[in-house]
Amino acid sequence: MRGLMQDWPLLCSKVIDHAAEEHPLREVVSQSVEGPMHRTNYREVRERARKIAQLLEREGYQLGDRIATMAWNTWRHLECWYGITGMGAVYHTLNPRLFPEQLVWIMNDAEDRLLFVDLTFLPLVEALAAKVPSLKKVVVLTDAEHMPETELPNAVAYETWLEGADGDFAWRELDENTAAGMCYTSGTTGNPKGVLYSHRSNVLHSMMAQSPDAMNISSSSRMLPIVPFFHANGWGIALTTPMAGSALVMPGPKMDGASIYRILTEERVTCTAAVPTIWLMLLQHLEAHGGELPDLERVIIGGSACPRRVTEAFQNRYGAQVVHAWGMTEMSPLGTLCAIKPEYAGLTGDDLLAIEDKQGFPPFGVEMKVTDDANVTLPRDGKTFGRLKVRGPSVAKAYYKNQGAELFDEEAWFDTGDVAHIDQHGYMQITDRAKDVIKSGGEWISSIEIENIAVGHPDVAEAAVIGLAHPKWDERPLLICVKREGHNPSKADVLGFLEGKIAKWWMPDDVVFVEEIPHTAAGKIRKTALREEFKSYVLPTA
Ligand code: ADP
Repeated sequence: MRGLMQDWPLLCSKVIDHAAEEHPLREVVSQSVEGPMHRTNYREVRERARKIAQLLEREGYQLGDRIATMAWNTWRHLECWYGITGMGAVYHTLNPRLFPEQLVWIMNDAEDRLLFVDLTFLPLVEALAAKVPSLKKVVVLTDAEHMPETELPNAVAYETWLEGADGDFAWRELDENTAAGMCYTSGTTGNPKGVLYSHRSNVLHSMMAQSPDAMNISSSSRMLPIVPFFHANGWGIALTTPMAGSALVMPGPKMDGASIYRILTEERVTCTAAVPTIWLMLLQHLEAHGGELPDLERVIIGGSACPRRVTEAFQNRYGAQVVHAWGMTEMSPLGTLCAIKPEYAGLTGDDLLAIEDKQGFPPFGVEMKVTDDANVTLPRDGKTFGRLKVRGPSVAKAYYKNQGAELFDEEAWFDTGDVAHIDQHGYMQITDRAKDVIKSGGEWISSIEIENIAVGHPDVAEAAVIGLAHPKWDERPLLICVKREGHNPSKADVLGFLEGKIAKWWMPDDVVFVEEIPHTAAGKIRKTALREEFKSYVLPTA
C-alpha cells in the first residue's frame, strides 16, 4: 500500500520561494567587489533570480546546460545559483585558485556554455576563454559604471543584462533528481573528477545541515560563510541559510584577518564557517590588535583538521563554540560535525578539547563505517583505524562521465580515501588520507596526528609529515616544519615536544625546517609535492 501524501519535489526553487515568502525582508549583506557594503533581502534575491532564469531561457540555454560561475560569495553569486537552477540548468562553480590549464580542462570536460565572472577574475577568463569552445557568453558580475573594456567577444555587465528582463517567470517544474550543481574535486591524483548534485540531494543536505547538532542555524542566526561557494559546494550554505530564514552575510573578496574581524563585529554575525587557515589569520589579527567577538556563537571549522589551539582560543578566550566538521565535495559536502553528546557533556579542559579534535558524528542522512582492506567492518573502539566509507542521499553514487568507478561498491558505499577510527559514542576521527598514511613495519602511522601535535609547539607555524623509503621498515616518518616568525626551535626541541604524546615507534626519524610548505588551491598541504621534493632525502636511520 502506498502512502497518500503529496508529491512535492525537493527543488532548489522551493528553498528561495520559502525564504522570499516566509522571511522576505531578512538581510542578505555582502562586501561587494566594487568596494561598498551591499544590502538586499530574500524577496529581492528571488526577484532577480527569476530575471536570470528568464534571460537564460530566452537566450536558448537548455535544461541540463552547465552554466559556470567564477565568483566570490556575494548576493549576485547567490542570485545566479537560484536563477540557473530555477530554469533547470546546472550551476558549475569554478575555483579561480586552480592553475589556468586545470580550469581549461575542467571547463571543457563540463562543456560550460555561459560564465558568470567577478571583476577580479576577468583577466584570467580573458586568457582562457578562447580555449573553451563551448563557452558562448560571459556575464561580468558588475554594473555598467564598473564594466571594464574587454576583448571577450560576447561579454555583458550583469546589471545591464538584467535590465532586459521583467522577472515574469515561473520556476521550471522539474523532477527532483534533475542535476542542479556541479563541482570538481581537486584531483591531487589524476584529473579532477566532476561531482553532480541533484535538486533533491541539495535540499536534503540543507535540511541536515541546519539541524542543531550540525550548523544549528535558524531565523535568528546571522550566518557568514567565508568558505567560498566554489569550495565543495560552498558547504551547502547558499541553500541552508535561506531554508532556515537566517540572515546571510558574505565577505566578497575580503578574507584577511582585519576584514573578517570587521564584518564579524559590524554585521553582528552569530555563526560562521571556514577552513582553519582563515581562523589562524583572524586569531593572529586579534592577538596583534586586540578585539572581542561579542555576537559570535558558533564557528564551523573543516576542510582540514582544526588545530587544538584554534578551538581553545575561540572557546576559552572569545566565548564562541567551535564545531569541527568533516566532509568532502562528494558529500555535498557535510559528513560529520563535532557537537557534544550527553555522553561527553561533563568534560572540561583538555579532556573536552581531545573530543573536539575529533571530526564528530554524522547527522541523519549520512551512514558511515570503517573497514580494513578486505572490507571487514572494524570495531568502534576509538583506536582501530581503517578506510572510512559513507553512503546517503547527499553522497555521490558516481562521478561525471563515470570516472573513478572503483570508489563505489555494489552496496553504494563510497570509499572516501580517508583513514579514520570511530569511538564507542560514534565520534569519528580522521587519522590520515589513505595515500598519505605511513606504512612502517606492516603497521600504519598517522601523519596527521603527528602534524597536529607538532603545530602545538609554540615555535612551529606549520608542520607536515611524510613517509620516506626505509631499508628495514619500508617507510619511516620525516617531519617538515616551518618556524614561527622570530623563533628558532631546534630538531631536538621539536622531537622532545612530541615525546610522550605519540607512541615511540611513531617518532619521526628526522626533522627538517623549510621556509614554506606547498599548498593546494583549497589551502591543504600538498603532500605529493613534498614527497617529490624529499624523494632523495636520506634519513639518518636508513
Ligand atoms: P579536495 O579533495 O579537492 O581537497 P574536498 O574539499 O572535497 O576536496 O576535500 C575533502 C577532504 O578534505 C576529505 O576527504 C579529508 O581528507 C579532508 N578533510 C575535510 N575536513 C577535514 C577535517 N575536519 N579534518 C581532516 N581532514 C579533513
